[in-house]
Amino acid sequence: MCGIVGYTGTSQATDILIDGLKRMEYRGYDSAGIAVQTDAGLVVRRKVGKVSGLEAIVASEHIEGTCGIGHTRWATHGVPSEENAHPHWSDDMTVVAVHNGIVENYQELREDLLRNGYTFYSQTDTEVAVKLIDLYYKKSGNNPIAALTKAMKRIRGSYCFVLMFREFPNAVWGVRKDN
Ligand code: GLU
Repeated sequence: MCGIVGYTGTSQATDILIDGLKRMEYRGYDSAGIAVQTDAGLVVRRKVGKVSGLEAIVASEHIEGTCGIGHTRWATHGVPSEENAHPHWSDDMTVVAVHNGIVENYQELREDLLRNGYTFYSQTDTEVAVKLIDLYYKKSGNNPIAALTKAMKRIRGSYCFVLMFREFPNAVWGVRKDN
């Protein structure tokens, strides 16, 4: 069972996210990652192995931001690797998400997105879901609720997604089904 943490407030997000991920280490995982809203946009850092490895990377960088999401992954689609670790993002870094569960129809959705001009850097069902949400986000004129509602109508499976949208720098969004 993977772990998800999200934070928005007045404190620095990175410390809170790393602390949250450490508290969920007992569940088991193969990789970990965080995303933070910064003045320069959404920043993602991921690492295979222990949360302490991820912590060492972000400690040396001082990623400034008070809104973020984090994830410890148990791979179901794609090997444990940095490219498959969460968070996953849309091509232009507008949408970033972490995910627990499985998108059963990801293959069919992936083919549809390829026809719409999307490309894929990972083997995960999660990246497919992020790009589907991105498609509807853009079609709706950057409306997260409309995008999530439309995307979830097409996604089959049991899941929890926690997301951030670049245009909403202080908000963390969540959606889940049977999870
Ligand atoms: N199906 C996703 C993956 O393989 C999420 C796995 C999880 O729940 O950690 O990346």
